[in-house]
Amino acid sequence: MKTILVAGGAGFIGSHLCEELLKLGHRVFAIDNLLTGKRENIEHLFQNPKFSWIEQDVRVPVYMNVPCDQIYNLASPASPVDFEKMPVTILQTGSKGHQNLLDWARANKARILLASTSEVYGDPLVHPQTEDYFGNVNSFGPRSCYDESKRYAEALSLAHKMEFGVEIRIARIFNTYGPRMRPEDGRVIPNFFSQALKGQPLTIYGTGNQTRSLCYVSDQVQGLISLMESSVDTPVNIGNPAEIKIIDLAKTISEVCGQKFQHEFKPLPKNDPQQRRPDITKAKSLLKWEPAIDLHEGLKRTLAFFKSRS
Ligand code: NAD
Ligand code: UDP
Repeated sequence: MKTILVAGGAGFIGSHLCEELLKLGHRVFAIDNLLTGKRENIEHLFQNPKFSWIEQDVRVPVYMNVPCDQIYNLASPASPVDFEKMPVTILQTGSKGHQNLLDWARANKARILLASTSEVYGDPLVHPQTEDYFGNVNSFGPRSCYDESKRYAEALSLAHKMEFGVEIRIARIFNTYGPRMRPEDGRVIPNFFSQALKGQPLTIYGTGNQTRSLCYVSDQVQGLISLMESSVDTPVNIGNPAEIKIIDLAKTISEVCGQKFQHEFKPLPKNDPQQRRPDITKAKSLLKWEPAIDLHEGLKRTLAFFKSRS
C-alpha cells in the first residue's frame, strides 16, 4: 500500500483516478480548491477510511501530517472556457502550484507525475504527434495561458530532476471524456450531450473538419497509473489514437442518442488546433498500455451520465 496525493482530485479525471487508486488498495489524499471540480465527484469516497479530502489551493504551500510516496498533479482548469475567464489563475496554478507540489515531492522523496497536455504541441505541424515534436505554440493568444503553464510545468519538473534528483513523470494527456465532465464546461462532448438532451442543434465551430482523438476516462486513468509505476521519466503521450473530424463526432452523437440533430455552425475560436492525434508507440512499448474502450462504447457510458444529471 502506498500513500498517494492527488492534486485536482475532485475534478473529472482526478476523481476517477482517486477511485482506481483506492481500488488498488492505496491510501489516497485528494487536494482540490473546487475551482472547476465538484465535491459530489468524490462524496461517495468519504466513507472509505483510506480516503482523505483536503480543500486547498495548491498555490498555497502543501503540507500533510503523513509522508507520501507518490503525487499526481492534475490541478488545473482545462477547458477553453476557463482560458478566457481565469488565465492568471491558470498560469499561477501551473507555476506556483506545481512548484509547491514539487517541493512537497522533494521533501518526501516522493515520485511526482504532472498531468501535462497535447496542448504543448499547439496547432501541430507534425501529425500524428510524437513526444520529440517541439510544437507550434502561440505564446500570446487565447490558449497561451494554458499551453505555456503546462510547458513551464514540464520544464520545472525537469529542472527539479536535474538539480535535486526528484523522480518525475510527465503524461501528455490528449482529449479525454467520460462521466463527471461538467455539462457547462464548454468542451465538445459536454456541449454536444447537453444540447442533444435539450433537443437543441449541436454547435460546430468552423467547418467541423478539424480533428481530435478522444480517450475514454478509464483508459486515461490506467495510462496515468502505468506511467507512474514505470521507470520512464520523459514525456509520454496518453490518449486514444482513433482520430475523428468534429463534424463526424456530431453525427456519432446522433447515432448514440438514436435521434438526428441539426447542426449550428459557429466561428472557429482563434488558435483552435486543426488536427490532433497522439502517436502512442512509446506508451505501448514502454508502459504496455493502450486504450481499450472505443468511441461508441465510451459515448454510450457518457450519455448515461449526462442523462442522469439532466
Ligand atoms: P477538471 O477541471 O475537471 O479538473 C481539474 C481539477 O483541478 C478541478 O477539480 C479543480 O477544482 C482543480 N484545481 C484547479 N486549480 C486548482 C488549484 N489552484 N488548487 C487546487 N485545485 C485546483 O479537468 P480535467 O479534465 O479532469 O483535467 C485534469 C488534468 O488533466 C488537468 O491538469 C488538465 O490540464 C489535464 N488534461 C486534461 C485533458 C482532458 O481532455 N480532460 C486533456 C489534457 C490535459
Ligand atoms: N468544438 C465544437 N463545438 C463545441 C465545442 C467545441 O465544434 O460546441 C470544437 C472545438 O472548436 C475544437 C474541438 O471541438 O476544435 C474540441 O474542443 P474542446 O474544447 O473539447 O477541446 P480542445 O480544443 O481543447 O481540444
